Amino acid sequence: MNIVEVKNLKKSFGKNNVLKDVSFTVKKGETLVILGPSGSGKSTILRCINNLEKIDSGNIIINNNEMIKENKNGKLVYNNKKVLNNMNLDTGMVFQEFNLFPHFTVKENISKALKYVLKKNKNEIENIVNDILKKMDLNEKANSYPCELSGGQKQRVGIARCLALNPKVICMDEPTSSLDPELVGEVLNVIKKLAEEKKTMIIVTHEIKFAREVADRVIFMADGKIIEEGTALEVIQNPKQPRTKQFLKRYIN
Ligand code: ADP
Ligand code: MG
Repeated sequence: MNIVEVKNLKKSFGKNNVLKDVSFTVKKGETLVILGPSGSGKSTILRCINNLEKIDSGNIIINNNEMIKENKNGKLVYNNKKVLNNMNLDTGMVFQEFNLFPHFTVKENISKALKYVLKKNKNEIENIVNDILKKMDLNEKANSYPCELSGGQKQRVGIARCLALNPKVICMDEPTSSLDPELVGEVLNVIKKLAEEKKTMIIVTHEIKFAREVADRVIFMADGKIIEEGTALEVIQNPKQPRTKQFLKRYIN
């Protein structure tokens, strides 16, 4: 069953055609890794899926909800607020720069949306947050502020905040790119665990070894197009397209 379906997605910023007819699907429980050079449109795809950017044409379907529909005059328009809201609840995002609320504690960062978006009661929130703090090994940091955390801890809070809302699909945009090298491993390990638990994820990363280990499928993008798509074995170990080969060369010693 497809949780995510991206159909003929096009997106420009002014004259810059950033996504040129991108189509792919993600099945329930699958980890999709998107690779590609800087500026190829990887973040824009994730931002479109999360409705943080408006799309120009095509469609994005999350858990059977369509972002774009035909209105009664046969014109393609954004779906109604209710559907878009459901789509927003079904998609979570983990950002490269963590995007934590600096004036909230770890616990508050994780619980705010549970209270104000999902309208959970106090008991439910307490249970969910405690479970997730334990899972992310953040118990001791529950009452700390982001400025008191290491980069790895901050990103684990970012992931915890996303998981708390239990989205159908989790998008991660270079989740380890702003970390010091010695902190990358702890975050990758958390993500690996999520992959083993069969969370549905779309991960943009430059960690090729990690990608090879966690990806059920890999997409290689360049210039706003999918150049190559397949299993990690196909795309990373045995790339067919010259652009993919060239890109991967610098990661293989
Ligand atoms: P990647 O994540 O693969 O590095 P991005 O999706 O961030 O690529 O960007 C793709 C292209 O879109 C780049 O040329 C970038 O400058 C442009 N771009 C991204 N976001 C915006 C924006 N908000 N306004 C204008 N141009 C943007
Ligand atoms: Mg990016």
